[in-house]
Amino acid sequence: MRRKVIAGNWKMNMLPNEAINFIQQLEPLVKDTKNEVILCVPFTDLFYALLHVQGTNIKIGAQNMHWEEKGAFTGEVSAQMLKSIGTEYVIIGHSERRQYFAETDETVNKKVKSALSVGLKPIICIGETLDQRESGKTESIVTNQIEKALEGIESKNLENIIIAYEPIWAIGTGKTATKEEANETIAQIRKKISELYGQNEADGVIIQYGGSVKSSNAKELFEMSDIDGGLVGGASLKADEFAKIVNYDK
Ligand code: PEP
Repeated sequence: MRRKVIAGNWKMNMLPNEAINFIQQLEPLVKDTKNEVILCVPFTDLFYALLHVQGTNIKIGAQNMHWEEKGAFTGEVSAQMLKSIGTEYVIIGHSERRQYFAETDETVNKKVKSALSVGLKPIICIGETLDQRESGKTESIVTNQIEKALEGIESKNLENIIIAYEPIWAIGTGKTATKEEANETIAQIRKKISELYGQNEADGVIIQYGGSVKSSNAKELFEMSDIDGGLVGGASLKADEFAKIVNYDK
């Protein structure tokens, strides 16, 4: 059976002292969960967060990286830099990065390859706009995104990859996909992975739902057959609310 993975995406929020307080509050609340707990924090919080999660079951991720190893890319951070301080995960291709920072399926693919090459685990975000959903294009959009994101990636890497299905119209809007909509689209993504890599691989890959997940809807979403947990934005900024989402099964 696949594990459930609950990841917080703090976006551009939380100063280091706030990050440390958050981790101190969260730790006792989630220490007994069997679900995997990840916090994806701003670059400036990474080092503090990594120090303060030592000896806990909380893992730390970044929210972006560059695909090049090093060089004249002012303002960028490489996969190796993240890995060197102990970062375990990195979000790649979040819709806000695609929308505001011109990320494409091609740059997502380069970043995924670069992350895997140093042992950093990518959380790959894909999802459709409202227009695309309303015109019946959801399946073709998300399967195309995942095919491009995984181009040239060997099946042995799938166990180190998380996919987050995040309908763009549900991110930060308070609108959640219904559990049936989310499960159906995630099943379509899984089917695409089975076509690319085989059924066994597809059955093992972790695919989260993201988009206005909160403690009041986490249980119904995460209990669906194909939904392996969530990527949580706004509701990951309060330790008690995030802990309730992690502990949705208690
Ligand atoms: C996200 O940032 O990935 C996200 C899903 O945000 P929210 O939960 O606030 O919709």
